[in-house]
Amino acid sequence: VTNAKSGPVPARIAEPGWWRQPFRMMQTNLRLIDAGLDVDAVAETVRAHGADAWLLNTGGIYASFPSELASQTPNPELGRRPSGDIVGDAVRAARARGLRLLARMDFSKVLPHVAADHPEWLYVSASGERQVFNGLVTTCPSAGYFQQEAFDILSEVLRRFDVDGFFINWFMYSEWTYSHEYLGPCHCQTCRAEWRAEHGGEPPTGPQDAGYATWQEWSRAKVLELGGRLRAHIESISPDTPLILHDTADIRYAEANNAVGREFWPHQTDESVSAAFTRQPQTPVLVNCVSFLDFPYRMAVESPDRFANYLVQAMARGGAISTYIMGPPGAIDYGPVLEVAGDITRFHQRHDDLYAHLEQTAEAVIIDPVAADVHGPGAAATAEFRGLYSALRELHVPFDVLEAGELSRVPTAQLDRYSTMVLPDAARVPSVAATAVDEWVSRGGRLIATLAEVGTGGMPRALGIEAIERSDIGASLLSAYAMDREGGVVPLHGVAHHVRPVDGAASASRLVPPARYGPPEYCYGHEASDEPSLVEYIHGEGRSATFTWSMGRAYRELDLPSLRHHFALALRDLAPEIFLATDLPESIGVIAGRSGDRQVLHLVNHTGLHRNGFGTPVVASGYSVDLPAGAHSIHALVADQVLTSTLSDGKVRVALPPISTFEVLTWKDAE
Ligand SMILES: [Zn+2]
Repeated sequence: VTNAKSGPVPARIAEPGWWRQPFRMMQTNLRLIDAGLDVDAVAETVRAHGADAWLLNTGGIYASFPSELASQTPNPELGRRPSGDIVGDAVRAARARGLRLLARMDFSKVLPHVAADHPEWLYVSASGERQVFNGLVTTCPSAGYFQQEAFDILSEVLRRFDVDGFFINWFMYSEWTYSHEYLGPCHCQTCRAEWRAEHGGEPPTGPQDAGYATWQEWSRAKVLELGGRLRAHIESISPDTPLILHDTADIRYAEANNAVGREFWPHQTDESVSAAFTRQPQTPVLVNCVSFLDFPYRMAVESPDRFANYLVQAMARGGAISTYIMGPPGAIDYGPVLEVAGDITRFHQRHDDLYAHLEQTAEAVIIDPVAADVHGPGAAATAEFRGLYSALRELHVPFDVLEAGELSRVPTAQLDRYSTMVLPDAARVPSVAATAVDEWVSRGGRLIATLAEVGTGGMPRALGIEAIERSDIGASLLSAYAMDREGGVVPLHGVAHHVRPVDGAASASRLVPPARYGPPEYCYGHEASDEPSLVEYIHGEGRSATFTWSMGRAYRELDLPSLRHHFALALRDLAPEIFLATDLPESIGVIAGRSGDRQVLHLVNHTGLHRNGFGTPVVASGYSVDLPAGAHSIHALVADQVLTSTLSDGKVRVALPPISTFEVLTWKDAE
């Protein structure tokens, strides 16, 4: 395993295309009644915000210009402008100020008269229902509107306007209506015929059907394939016009948003941007940050501190940032968000060169099960992952994120950039992923794993565990513990397994089976068994340490510091060098990167964390970090200071300036 800091740098920005350089965007999502907008005033606001690209509604449901296509209905309010053309006016206003104008398209729905003309374009449920909301009818990505008409719609825009890029909204097989009504996978004629040809029978009707997982993969592959063809179509007409969409596009779209009723996960943006770059380092990621609460509440302004966290997490991982508002600026009062967003966007603009070259360089990686189903079958897997993620962040271990499905796909050299891997739910990974993990450990990798849910996949041999003999869950775990080698005990929670280690594996912590609990008079008698709760093993050139229980979920749900300490003990034994030496509190996280010859450390202040969002952080003063020997030219970019340092045990100790929302530390290594 090579040291992360000396590995090759994927030269994302070396390729042609303006979008490979860092950029900042503002989206004005227009309502029909906004047709009279003052394009010069908007362009001025976009520029003053620190953005250099403006995303504007162009076509799809309504066209913001007098389209000649029968499928495109011009906004009936276009008569409010002398030109009758919002897009043409906006392109001119943007050009005059050196801004790029990006066109927002939406092929997911059509107006009733278009639906009447083309019933074959529409989504149809298994029972023959359409998805209709406010009169708009959902279309199907398999059918003609997406497969043919969309190409003509894009061609018309490119013929008429010098736009700098496209974004296509809601590009997916829709199973839900806007009003949260579940109608299931599409059963239109095209979908049924294609499904029958490829899989036989009828498409599934929902997650309860056996074929649903296959349908999810099938529909995802179709969306990726179609996105790739649309991208190629745009490129064939205008090579310098990128498509913002997903993995097969030029720029990957990510949205940082809130949703009423969805479990809050404070690291959502950090996780998704890191996973995107680890998967495909060459493709830029744009994070569009939503200024309002949720789509039914587009006039309710988001918490400015939550918004600040979206932006900071996105840019700390190297993402392009964007502020998304409804209407032209001022139509709805997003003032507090715009103020914070403008400050951070202009910071990004001032440090354009740093962000242009920013690459992830953490030596540790956490494997993401991508099971973000926080209430359904994936709930336990999500909790397992998020608990370990939080623990690493609080322990000041810089790390990247890699999706489990990518383990067997990323090039060996890319995986070998990591010295240490954190693998939640190790018995649940697919067999090919388990093999990739085994090979990586045998080449010298250090693995820390947990056994939580047991799936149909293959458990990595590198764990040194021959079999899981039986499992305790729920009530049968009450009053059970794990005891570490220091004699400390932590509660078992979630699921614990009785395992048979292979010869040569060592037990580093032990299970303490339940004893009586309840009336205090009876609460004694716990004794550690000989069974391991943490198995250590040497595999090839590498090593592993495996918690035989759901350590991550326990930390996620119980938040006990002793659980984090229990995890840290095992991790320090395995990979002591991956911890940043600092006296920072646990609520200030670190994200490591490199930009050219500068090392970069983003410090993110999470002291404002609330149950369902972020409030104002406490300014953190008087802390320090230790940098490697020889570190010099140390800057704090937010404080805009050159920092002084002292030598301590061969390390360079740096006194940090007060940290409000975030700070960015840069330094150069010894020559
Ligand atoms: Zn369909």
